[in-house]
Amino acid sequence: MRRIAILGSTGSIGTQSLDVIRRHPESFCAAALAARSSAAALAAQVREFSPAAAALVCPPEGFAGENNCEWSFGEEALLDICAREDVDAVLVAVVGIAGLPAVLRAIECGKTVLLANKEALVTGGALVMEAARRKGVSLLPVDSEHSAIFQCIQGRPNAHPCRIVLTASGGPFRTWSREQIERATVEQALRHPNWSMGRKITIDSASMVNKALEVIEARWLFDMAPEDIEVVVHPQSVVHSGVEFSDGALLCQMGLPDMRVPIAYAMSYPDRMGNVGERLDLTRAGALTFEAPDFARFPALKLAWEVLREGGDAPVRLNGANEVAVDLVLRGELPFFRIADLLAETLSREGARPVREVADVLDADRRARETAHALAQRWTA
Ligand code: NAD
Ligand code: MG
Repeated sequence: MRRIAILGSTGSIGTQSLDVIRRHPESFCAAALAARSSAAALAAQVREFSPAAAALVCPPEGFAGENNCEWSFGEEALLDICAREDVDAVLVAVVGIAGLPAVLRAIECGKTVLLANKEALVTGGALVMEAARRKGVSLLPVDSEHSAIFQCIQGRPNAHPCRIVLTASGGPFRTWSREQIERATVEQALRHPNWSMGRKITIDSASMVNKALEVIEARWLFDMAPEDIEVVVHPQSVVHSGVEFSDGALLCQMGLPDMRVPIAYAMSYPDRMGNVGERLDLTRAGALTFEAPDFARFPALKLAWEVLREGGDAPVRLNGANEVAVDLVLRGELPFFRIADLLAETLSREGARPVREVADVLDADRRARETAHALAQRWTA
């Protein structure tokens, strides 16, 4: 029985993870659940899954939990869950840089980390990988592309891939002209063709910032040089990514777009489980197509390679500016198409500084947020 803590249990990844647990009560239990502010949803999950502990970062006024488990509140409560003795693995499925301290705490406590939260690696990649190596902790990817790559390299200890092919659906604006994208509304950006996900990652998919973050995530997870990571647009989302070896063999992982597959693989690794979801019938999949990404219509994508080349805290500032940009877009306070400008402009405001410890990351994040806010205010005044 693997005892799993889910941070972000009320979200898209969180609820799909609970569905995997629901289908496999003999193998997994939800030892602890945590969310930001969705008290009613979390309480309902507590009633169904009976975890030993539940945490809410921002509880609504007057909410004290129910009498059925150990409730705790505030930011520290999220971190305390990572340290619990009755937890074997921590699935980090919160949104944004809030995932970084949780990932680091889980590693520090020697827990296996099931990583959905890509922002932790984007902002703290070097620190997280070094901590995991030092503690001998496994970091298992949940992001579908990285799970695909991870699955393709299993059993090949002597063959480091020479190239990673990261597939991207292209999002709702894949076929739109630049002029059309300039008029895109937030509602249109929220209509993803293949995946149903949380609001932040859905906006990131429309701007292709999500793929930029995933390039950085892959750089750290698989120790790849940025120039050996290639993005290929594949609108059907059936080929989830692949790796190429020195002899030119390209191995890819395929399946229906269903996050429960990578979630279940991370949970059961190195084993595999049945009863996860519907299966892919290749005779009914239709044509699978691939195209080069268009950096002119999706200029934010190329920032991934730029910040990796710059190094230091540049990826942190990219992420911080993007969290501000997405928040403003979702509030209707910044037009969708200005996201890329806001990221590029924020990055250009200062040179890279070295990252030696978490405090450097948090400081760079704070500076980027301030700059992005100030710029956006000036642009929309
Ligand atoms: P979501 O918005 O649907 O859910 C987020 C969850 O985290 C909620 O339970 C929320 O209460 C909680 N949360 C948010 N901010 C928090 C904070 N500061 N502290 C504590 N809890 C907080 O998001 P999602 O789509 O499930 O995405 C979660 C993470 O997984 C993101 O980093 C995303 O990039 C990544 N991811 C998601 C998908 C997907 O299909 N949804 C796929 C790949 C990767
Ligand atoms: Mg992904």
